[in-house]
Amino acid sequence: MVKRDVRSRIRGGSAAAAMLLWSACVSETPDVGSLETVWVPPAERVEVHALGRGQTFGGLLYDAIDANEQAALLLAFQEHADPRRLRERTEITLRYLPGTEELRGVDVAVSKDQTVRLDRNIVGWNSQLIQTPIFVDTIYATGEIAETFWGSVVENVELTSLTFEDRNLLIDHLDNVFQWQMDFSRQIRPGDNYRFAFERQVRPDGSMRAGKLLAAEFVNSGTPYHAIYFDPNGDGRGSYFDLDGESVRRAFLLKPLSYRRISGRFSSGRRHPVLNTIRAHRGIDYAADSGTPIMATSDGVVVHRGPKGSFGNTVEIRHPNGWVTRYAHLSRFRSGVNLGTRVHQSDVIGYVGMSGLATGPHLHYEMLQNGRQFDPLSVDLPAGDPVPADDMVRWRAEMTGRYDLLETIPRLGPVRTFVADADEDGPAPDASPQGGGA
Ligand SMILES: [Zn+2]
Repeated sequence: MVKRDVRSRIRGGSAAAAMLLWSACVSETPDVGSLETVWVPPAERVEVHALGRGQTFGGLLYDAIDANEQAALLLAFQEHADPRRLRERTEITLRYLPGTEELRGVDVAVSKDQTVRLDRNIVGWNSQLIQTPIFVDTIYATGEIAETFWGSVVENVELTSLTFEDRNLLIDHLDNVFQWQMDFSRQIRPGDNYRFAFERQVRPDGSMRAGKLLAAEFVNSGTPYHAIYFDPNGDGRGSYFDLDGESVRRAFLLKPLSYRRISGRFSSGRRHPVLNTIRAHRGIDYAADSGTPIMATSDGVVVHRGPKGSFGNTVEIRHPNGWVTRYAHLSRFRSGVNLGTRVHQSDVIGYVGMSGLATGPHLHYEMLQNGRQFDPLSVDLPAGDPVPADDMVRWRAEMTGRYDLLETIPRLGPVRTFVADADEDGPAPDASPQGGGA
């Protein structure tokens, strides 16, 4: 409502300005050059409605126009959207001629990014699709972790202009980029710090439409990890590399759940957020709500799918080189995941539950090679291709530019000092003089 008021006030203002110009022209006829014709719509009375549960677009229009007109209006609307597919709470604005009950236009916000505008004309109704304007900006932030990574991002004073939801989306972006290097749920130490440059598309209401990290750094126990975006083909399908041009991708994700779904981020700190008990069976237990999707941590073939004693519903996946991953206590399996099914890294295979011997909903995860247990944090198998040799020159230029973006942001914690690489042309910005180890 408020937004609409503002808009009509602006319109009124431009009409007044146009009148002033016009009267000035008549009285003195100075040569002011040619002005572009400005069409100023008359002020209108607007009513904003939200489509109720079970209410139809036609039903909402019932009092405003008769059945014939409604049919014509819906026909025009159908050029852009299906009137039967409008979601509950869709914002519909009815625009009336001031002082009358005569409907002159209807705006339907069919999505956050598109509005169908319907206008009455001499013969009926015409429609047009209006794209919500988007602007692009870049956010720079830096933070130090006191307790949890989640807390340090959502409470970051540099990010208070973002909605709570958008700050959470930002955490997902960082988790996606660092998911092969960092398990934010169990690797974080107080004093760990981060900084990043994030390019986003923003709507006029301030909400974020989309975004991507241009460059990010995470310092864990004094060791910096980098992820720099590079799009060799310019098709928007780039990926992330470290400062040496090596892909950040690894054969295994460090964790089978997205960081934000792992409970404990509200923990008050003394206790480590994740159960993380290395018991006799030496798995990792991730506390999460029942129904949380579980991802395969690497490409492979399903070799077990079903109950397995105290593990309850369990999936086991065989990977190359004798590796097997095990996911236990599931509430249910993803449909289509069966014995022999081929899965890819990050595919959802099932959902968190508490089947078998479990006191609460959690995922029990194990990583084995030839029957021997490994902690995923100790296994580092590169998987992605490095920057192709042909793209090296462009990569160097873009990487340097993006790394420089990071360097404009102060680092908040200590970084271990490295001896500069003997290789002259290898970038060695990690050899910074700050800090003295962790
Ligand atoms: Zn367990």
